[in-house]
Amino acid sequence: MKARIRVAGIVQGVGFRPFIYRIAIQNNLKGYVRNCGDAGVEIVVEGDKNKIENFLEDLNSKKPPLAKIHEVKVEFSPEKGEFNNFSILKSVEKTELSGSVIPPDIAICNECLKEVRDPKNKRFDYFFITCTNCGPRFTIIERLPYDRPNTTMREFPMCSFCQKEYKDPANRRFHAQTVACPVCGPKAYLTDNKGEKIEVKDAIREAGKLLAEGYIVAIKGYGGFHVATATTISEPIQRLRLVKHRKQKPFAIMVKNLETVKSFAEVGRKEAEMLTSYIRPIVLLRKSENYYLSDLIAPNLHNIGVMLPYTAMHYMLFDKVHEPAFIMTSANPPNQPIVKDNEQALKRLGRIVDYFLFHNRRIAHRCDDSVLRIHGNKHVCLIRRSRGYAPAPIHLKFSSKKCVLGLGGELNVVSCILNGNKAFLSQHVGDVENVETLEFLEKATKHLIRLTNSQIEVITCDLHPKFNTTRLAYKLAEEFKCPVVQVQHHHAHIAALMAEHDLEEIIGIACDGYGYGPKGEAWGGEILYCNREGYRRIGHLEEQPMPGRDLATYYPLRMAAGILHKETDVSEWLFSKSSYLPHGKTEAEVILKQLKKGVKVKTSSCGRILDAVSAILGICYERTYEGEPAMKLESAAINGKDVLGLEPEIKGDVIETSNIVYKVYENARKFRVKDLAYSAQQYIARSLAELAVEKAHKLGVKHVGFSGGVAHNEQIALTIQKIVEENDLNFVFHKFVPPGDGGISFGQTIVGSFIL
Ligand code: ZN
Ligand code: ZN
Ligand code: FE
Repeated sequence: MKARIRVAGIVQGVGFRPFIYRIAIQNNLKGYVRNCGDAGVEIVVEGDKNKIENFLEDLNSKKPPLAKIHEVKVEFSPEKGEFNNFSILKSVEKTELSGSVIPPDIAICNECLKEVRDPKNKRFDYFFITCTNCGPRFTIIERLPYDRPNTTMREFPMCSFCQKEYKDPANRRFHAQTVACPVCGPKAYLTDNKGEKIEVKDAIREAGKLLAEGYIVAIKGYGGFHVATATTISEPIQRLRLVKHRKQKPFAIMVKNLETVKSFAEVGRKEAEMLTSYIRPIVLLRKSENYYLSDLIAPNLHNIGVMLPYTAMHYMLFDKVHEPAFIMTSANPPNQPIVKDNEQALKRLGRIVDYFLFHNRRIAHRCDDSVLRIHGNKHVCLIRRSRGYAPAPIHLKFSSKKCVLGLGGELNVVSCILNGNKAFLSQHVGDVENVETLEFLEKATKHLIRLTNSQIEVITCDLHPKFNTTRLAYKLAEEFKCPVVQVQHHHAHIAALMAEHDLEEIIGIACDGYGYGPKGEAWGGEILYCNREGYRRIGHLEEQPMPGRDLATYYPLRMAAGILHKETDVSEWLFSKSSYLPHGKTEAEVILKQLKKGVKVKTSSCGRILDAVSAILGICYERTYEGEPAMKLESAAINGKDVLGLEPEIKGDVIETSNIVYKVYENARKFRVKDLAYSAQQYIARSLAELAVEKAHKLGVKHVGFSGGVAHNEQIALTIQKIVEENDLNFVFHKFVPPGDGGISFGQTIVGSFIL
């Protein structure tokens, strides 16, 4: 019997061909295996029919840990005796199946880690040690199939030692495309901030020492550069904030090991599991009582973004120092994508850093670290889905009739391709507000289209006519000759939930900072009924004035004044706070005049309410990064109590918010900040949940979901969940995409597929 087998999934770059080779030999089969240009694998075997059946069983049950099989197609035919052995053939460019993809970058495996620490091993101390189970993948590939000449490793011809391992079926580097050693592979080197090489014996450990001494070092990793420095002394962090123009935004840190993490942060079981997974994301952890790192890392926040080393280079940085952790922040100049090329690094980072730790392997595609947090000790809440995830697909229970591309909104953009029952999300692109990020979005999207062998039939984007992503959608639509569907922001948030949970209908609570409403309104605290045909807005937060429009987003005192003005005379209060406005008393006067005249621009945004409360409580007066006032409010509310106990006031479909804001203001001297912060969040959560539950009962809908950036807030998310479940309804939360705007493009493609 002869069988031609084609396998789709994540089957290139994961040791799949060596695995096929082994099970073919074990089953006494002859033939070949080879990679194809569609990221799939083609296998031809000849032998006994029951042996072939065994082989097919092994294919599924014994596959390598990182391999994912989406589809296996088998055609049987009579045996011709064409082969006298089983071999791994040269790859072919042909593309037959779509929907396969190469794997994400994978953290160093335990075996490689052991070898790099073993003085007798040829790769002892070698920073770029990898194998079939670990190393960069997504960030090194330029085109399919995944073969060394198609990756940035082609500049490093294998030495005879590496060749031998590469060709030895018994070796764990058999056909590992990233195989390299100190003789033939990439080299690391240290330079000053002008690119002048510094001759040292051990560049990496030298860099580690420099970090511990308080220097700022740019370090080239898998998907781009990090800017790094010490964490126990404040001077370099202060300097870093100054040169990066980053007043308050928290920095992520890389910690020596899990033990050390536990010395300053609380680590639950699920958190430890995620920290040590091959994805190695940044996990937001609660600072413990013993927190001893600098307060400048994550100022006024209860949590800190922590990741563990994920390359041999990272491990080696810690070898010769006592520093427990290093700041490791993506090296991206303001509003620009992460820096990935050496020359660009010198140009863009030279003034920020003291030294560079370079290596001479090119990065084909940039990829930022992923970020997540755990809600209620068990639920993964993604904040940024990037390295370790992209480009692995999200599997859906339904299949889209059309291949849909989604381009997202404006902030935290990723693109998404919905192809059949799989959704492929790009790496994190960022805030698409300028040319550089827009170009990156287009490039990343086109690369993803090629990688997945997709034919785009529909493009989806936001309703906002002026978003750069909307413009890009219409540009690409001309190129691909396909229609554009514009999707309302909060509809996209809730459609994402529907797809993740395979629901026909849902009551969705979508809370965030801003989304363009169908008539251009500023939405952001919405309750929607959604089904596959569309959505209806069935409830929302009270619309509040935004004195000075966007300024009210940056200076939450303005929001607070606008809301309080409805209930009381705020002149005295606003003047007393005017030092927190950029133009002081003059600005306060202007705001008061605006309020008297009446402010036309209004928003139902939940984020803006939380901002206002944050300002009234003196927690945050200026938004220097996205979500800052609300994030600091959440931090302030930790261990708080609902001292106000305010009952939800719902008028028709509108949830009152002036009342809670005023109550906080009125009681500001009477109660502790943490209790008032907690009370305000509790009111918002309770009223949203109660209105959603009421609507669900009335409409006979069984599922209530929560999405939008506010859903990152643990207290609010868990409170809504509790109330929904107490009312015998099913609460749904995001499983595979972030609740924030990193999940928008996915939701857009879902809406696109539903209505076509
Ligand atoms: Zn390995
Ligand atoms: Zn070598
Ligand atoms: Fe949003």
